[in-house]
This record gives sequence, C-alpha cells and structure tokens, in this order.
Amino acid sequence: MRKRPTLIVDHKNLRHNMNTVIGWCREAGIDVAGVIKVTTGLASAALDYESCGAKWIASSRLEQLARAREAGVKLPLLMIRVPMLSELSEMVKICDYSLQSSLDTLKALQEAAAENGKVHNVILMADLGDLREGFFEKEEIVDIAVYVENELDFVHLAGIGTNLGCVGSVKPTKEKMDMLADWAEAVEEAIGRPLEIVSGGATSSLIPLFDGVMNPKVNMLRIGAVSYIGPLEDLRTCYGREEVDVLSDECFVLEAEVIETNTKPTHPIGELGVDAFGKKAVYVDRGRRRRALLAVGRADYGDIDDIVPQLEGAEVMMASGDHTILDIEDCREQLRVGDIVRFKVKYSALLRLTASENITIEEINRQ
Ligand SMILES: *Cc1c(COP(=O)(O)O)cnc(C)c1O
Repeated sequence: MRKRPTLIVDHKNLRHNMNTVIGWCREAGIDVAGVIKVTTGLASAALDYESCGAKWIASSRLEQLARAREAGVKLPLLMIRVPMLSELSEMVKICDYSLQSSLDTLKALQEAAAENGKVHNVILMADLGDLREGFFEKEEIVDIAVYVENELDFVHLAGIGTNLGCVGSVKPTKEKMDMLADWAEAVEEAIGRPLEIVSGGATSSLIPLFDGVMNPKVNMLRIGAVSYIGPLEDLRTCYGREEVDVLSDECFVLEAEVIETNTKPTHPIGELGVDAFGKKAVYVDRGRRRRALLAVGRADYGDIDDIVPQLEGAEVMMASGDHTILDIEDCREQLRVGDIVRFKVKYSALLRLTASENITIEEINRQ
C-alpha cells in the first residue's frame, strides 16, 4: 500500500508551467533564474527548470543548491539569500553567483573566493522600498560597485538587482523597474562598462511584464512561486491577473486518508478555553453535521487556509497538529474510513509539506 499522507508531484504540469513562464520572459528579453526553495530544493524540479530553458538555478539555502548539482544540474547556481559570513567558504565551492548587500560580506567573500581559487559572481541588491535586503541609497550602491570592480579581484560584479512584493508588500510597478534601471545605469557609468545582469525581482515582477511596461534594461527575473502554484495564489487571487489561468495549479497534490467519519455537533460541548495552539477559537453552531477526520495536520502543512480540498461540498473546519476535520455534510459522495481526499496546496503549505518527514513524495511524469 502507498504510504500516506502523500504529496504527488506531477512533472508534466510543472514543466508546462515553467515553459510558459520562461516563454513570457523570453519574449521580453528576460532570462529566468529558476527558484527551487519552496520545494525544499526538490532536485527534480531543478532539472525541470533546466530542461525548460532557465539560465540559473536559484535557492536561499546552500544544501538545496548542492543537491541540485549532485542530481546533475549543469546550470550556474545562484544563492538568493544574502549569505552568512559563516557559510562563505562553502558558498564559493557550491555556487557561481550570489546576491549581496553588505560591504563586510563582500570583503570576506574576496578572501573565501581567493582561497577557493575561483572568481565568484555577485549581484548587488538595491532596496527600492520593500525593506528586506539591499543598499538603500543609489550613491551607496554605486560606491560599493566601484569598490568591487576595482579592489576585489576574486569577486566579479555581474549586476544589480532588487526584490519587491515580499516583507514590505511593495508592488513592482513601472516606477520601481525604471528606478532599478536608473541605478544600473549609474553603476555602469561609474565602472565604465555594461553590467551583464539587471535582476528585476521575483514572481510579482511579472506584473509590469504583463502590462508591457517592463523596463528593457531588466534582463533577469528570479521565478519560484508561480511555476509551482499557478493561478491558485497571489497573481490571480490578490492581483486578478488572468494571464496565469493558463498555468496548472495541480503540480503538487496532497493526498490524505480518512480515519473516522461521524456525525457530530459543530459547536463544542462544555466550557471553552483555548485550542491545541493556545488560541481562542470561534465556533459557529450549524447543528449536527457529518464530518471526516483525516490523518494529516498542521504539523504537515501549517495553516488550514493553505490547503484546498478537491471534493465537491467539502470544507476544512479545523485542524490540530496531526488531524484535519472536514465538513462533508453537503458532499454528494459519501466518504468512508480508508478513502483518500485530495487537496491543492498553496505556497506556504508546499514549503512545509516538502520539508516534512511525514510526507511521502511521489513523482509522476518525470520525463
Ligand atoms: C524567494 C525569492 C525569489 C522567488 O520568489 P517567488 O515569489 O517564489 O517567485 C526571488 N528572489 C529572492 C531574493 C527570493 O528570496
């Protein structure tokens, strides 16, 4: 018997999404760095990105990049979380490119790269208001760029980049892309040569591309989310972009097993305190209803809002670390113990599911 709960990875759907997204970018003169962090660095996803025409494989964790290389990925590897000092010597062995936002780190990187005997490529980050990583002033990024260019012979200045739509929720508008291009031009003028890379952001930077207002200087996007999740989140649900409707939202499907079906009240009986996570919950009294208890829980996927049951009429009511309770009163199909319920998964659920030791990953349509 198949070990449950299972996360089915459908590589045919995944490659369809990657091909489509890379095609959109190519039309705008943009190369894609295929970001694999949301899959906890599933090496087969990196190989899919490579076969679909990505130009780099990117992750926020060195272990994941090392695994991609071991699995046979030939593309240059890009570290997209600005690195810790403590991982620089490992980073220069594993990766070819990294994002950088600190002079101290760049100086230490010079030492690590020299020791490794190999020039390391960097993309200096510009913080254009989202307030995560990056230099905040144009003059500062220009000064640092000149320093890297002239003083650090084992660090090659490959380009500059930005990240938006993350901790600060700032939209990658035309203005932000134009600002990045302006900063890139200032750097180019100061160092007296063109930059190879102007990296305009992540999935959310597809918005100016869809609108046809992407600055032509931007020639790299670092794309994760939309390739894996398709129209299930963000670009569709938050920004209403219908362009993504051609993508699949069934690259990853969670299968969970029913371990109890009973008809019970919907409001708990007794004096109410807090739930298993110490929270005061609100319960709506809808009378007695039929429900199914599933052997998967918040330890596996995080939050019930991040999984979407694929069973008509079913609704996720609540969950503990190891149980999920579905309201199945309105389902035409009658569930029984041992049956399987399938769920589409959103970004943060995918992040957790792929990292959970309780989840069996089953890959289909690999090639
Ligand atoms: C996570 C991340 C990305 C990819 O973001 P998605 O929204 O998943 O496309 C790109 N760049 C950086 C720096 C990141 O941390």
